[in-house]
Amino acid sequence: MTTVEAPQSSRSVLVTVADVVAETADACSLVFEIPEDVEDRFAYRPGQFLTLRIPSERTGSVARCYSLASSPHTDDAPKVTVKRTADGYGSNWVCDNVSVGDRLEVLPPSGLFTPPDLAENLLLFAAGSGITPVMSILKSALDQGSAHVVLVYANRDEKSVIFAEELRRLAAAEPERLTVIHLLESVQGLPTARTLAGLARPFASHRAFLCGPGPFMAAVHEGLAAAGLPKDRVHAEVFTSLSGDPFADVEPIELSAEEEAGAATAFVELDGENHELTWPRSQTLVDIMLARGLEVPYSCREGECGSCACTVTFGEVEMDNTGMLDADDIAAGYILGCQARPVTDAVKIEF
Ligand SMILES: Cc1cc2nc3c(=O)[nH]c(=O)nc-3n(C[C@H](O)[C@H](O)[C@H](O)COP(=O)(O)OP(=O)(O)OC[C@H]3O[C@@H](n4cnc5c(N)ncnc54)[C@H](O)[C@@H]3O)c2cc1C
Repeated sequence: MTTVEAPQSSRSVLVTVADVVAETADACSLVFEIPEDVEDRFAYRPGQFLTLRIPSERTGSVARCYSLASSPHTDDAPKVTVKRTADGYGSNWVCDNVSVGDRLEVLPPSGLFTPPDLAENLLLFAAGSGITPVMSILKSALDQGSAHVVLVYANRDEKSVIFAEELRRLAAAEPERLTVIHLLESVQGLPTARTLAGLARPFASHRAFLCGPGPFMAAVHEGLAAAGLPKDRVHAEVFTSLSGDPFADVEPIELSAEEEAGAATAFVELDGENHELTWPRSQTLVDIMLARGLEVPYSCREGECGSCACTVTFGEVEMDNTGMLDADDIAAGYILGCQARPVTDAVKIEF
């Protein structure tokens, strides 16, 4: 039994494992019971993820993000689905060690891989464990609107298809609205950009969401471009392992008189409110906002998860790691708050 006695940081919460579901031979789901007093902080949007603190004798702990496969609209309790990574530490630890009744330490939901409007038609691409956030989006869209949803779902073979039965049921219940196209490597080989473009072409006016291993995502991006989907209607979630510790509390910032004098000014719009902040050149945007007690969205603080993405509408910043932003995102003014330091004296930012 794995039970954590107290949370490590002021942001994390202990949740109880209410159920463990063996989804396939190498994937399991954990259903969580959230303590009543923090239910508000666990409200989530389809496509978001939780960050789990996984104990380790070697390092104390590792932090791993797992997307919510449940829908906030159709499921009573949040559920994450974890697929074993060959030689991976965290995923195997979860699948081998967690049982009903255990308490795990998690960070509340985070992430931007979420449809702006559930009434829009959706073209979803998932491979392997990439189905988790996509499943949440799919179920939410079917429940909330009247949109048409297409899922292209790639797997090694039939046995490795996570949520096969649930998808069959959903497609049977909504034959006019949900189309599921399975691609099996054991039957068709690996999906090519050409095949994916052919599947996408009839749905080029849909909004696309994709999640899966790197080579699959590259093929989908190429296929969607060939099918004529504009980039601003294509959203991707990249699964990586965090190397830092997002559970650690952020230390208060102590500035020298020199840093104070040379600081820039940030004009930040967050949740419809405007804030003016002194922004020392050595500090990241997330850190100065936390120091001011602002509820800035963030999770990994490594540039990997995208939770703190925002846009610069005036001025310039520099970033140590542009992480999951691509060249088009950067050209459109997107930055990662956890990586951004000011270049110009004034920077306007919108979350
Ligand atoms: C936003 C987001 C959402 C995600 N959603 C999902 C999801 O829904 N489902 C899913 O399955 N995955 C998801 N992932 C991926 C997931 O977070 C992990 O990257 C994945 O499970 C692989 O982690 P792993 O530890 O098993 O493997 P690896 O990260 O490959 O494990 C190896 C690493 O662990 C370290 N290590 C090895 N042994 C130890 C030890 N004893 N102690 C400490 N460290 C050790 C090694 O040094 C190495 O760095 C998501 C990732 C992101 C960023």
